[in-house]
Amino acid sequence: MSDNSFVFSQKPITIESGAGVYLTSDDGTDYLDFGASYACTPTGHCHPDVVEAVQEQAAELLFVQGSYPVSAREELHAKLGALAPGDLEKVWLCNSGTEANEAALKFARSATGGTKIVAAKRAFHGRTAGALSATWKPKYKTPFEPLLEDVEFVAYGDEVELADAVDDDTAAVILEPIQGEGGVHPAPDGYLEAAREITEETETALVFDEIQTGLGRTGETWACEHEGVVPDILTAAKGVASGLPMGATLCADWIAESAGPHGSTFSGNPLVCAAAGATLEVLAEEDLAANAAAVGDYLREELAASDLPIREIRGQGLMLGLEVKRGANRVLRDLALEHQILALPAGRSVVRLLPPLVLKESHVDELLEALTEMLAPTADSQS
Ligand SMILES: *Cc1c(COP(=O)(O)O)cnc(C)c1O
Repeated sequence: MSDNSFVFSQKPITIESGAGVYLTSDDGTDYLDFGASYACTPTGHCHPDVVEAVQEQAAELLFVQGSYPVSAREELHAKLGALAPGDLEKVWLCNSGTEANEAALKFARSATGGTKIVAAKRAFHGRTAGALSATWKPKYKTPFEPLLEDVEFVAYGDEVELADAVDDDTAAVILEPIQGEGGVHPAPDGYLEAAREITEETETALVFDEIQTGLGRTGETWACEHEGVVPDILTAAKGVASGLPMGATLCADWIAESAGPHGSTFSGNPLVCAAAGATLEVLAEEDLAANAAAVGDYLREELAASDLPIREIRGQGLMLGLEVKRGANRVLRDLALEHQILALPAGRSVVRLLPPLVLKESHVDELLEALTEMLAPTADSQS
């Protein structure tokens, strides 16, 4: 077996298959998946409609360059355009989240003529040079510096700092409506609206990175819809093709018209477009945003009503962060190895839940039972 541990630390479970909210390991153990591999499988693992669409497209045509229209891509463009908030109907497709943000920053610079980028402390936007420049954590950046110059970081949620940072040379303000990797921090009420007003005044492009929050996860198709704020550019990725690699940059006309030259060989490749088209259909048909809202509320209420040692519950819908007193990694290890439940960290003290959006209340009950056994005050505090 090849050793990839210089990039990925390896988990002690080998996964062979998946169905719905479960993953199955090579020894036949089922794991309840509360992480969905960072929100990448909103429709659940191997949703039959997605699998069928991929199989059909694979037999038909695997690839043709982006300059030839193909129906899988044309249909996806139409679906994404229809789903976009406001008038963000121009769609650029790529292969990952960081590329979607890379395009967003390039388009913003080209369309505004400005250079400066304003991002938030704790932000995560990806790991290619441009997106990494707008990412906060020094650990991810320091070994690769110098990155883009002219990036200013402001405290997330502070309208005054944001207004001070944005000037006539600012090309983009890039924000996650709920910061994910940074610890699951929702924008305070009115912050996105304020960002909209500030950027309008200076003709700066407002970019919402909805790579983690998008596609129904927070209870609306896009998290910005809760606040009724429409950006100039919105980026999506992660779950958009149910785990096949795809990113999307949705743009207003004024951005698209002056976006400048950009491209990518695999952009809008038919196979992934077919998976994404089927994913969007499942999201609509099964009303997964509404399910995320309902099951997310149930999860939140049950956690709040419990006497578990959780300092704070943050997030919305099925994007929740639990600030735990014991280190998150210990909780996650015990959940996986003792209770066969998989979840994610967000920093050292936050357990992050991003389950498939097909999750049911009975799965929440399973998680609650496991957490109670592990963490409740009556449990052996030495274990
Ligand atoms: C995961 C993520 C990215 C980067 O996506 P990749 O596909 O890993 O490049 C960017 N922004 C946010 C908010 C993310 O959650």
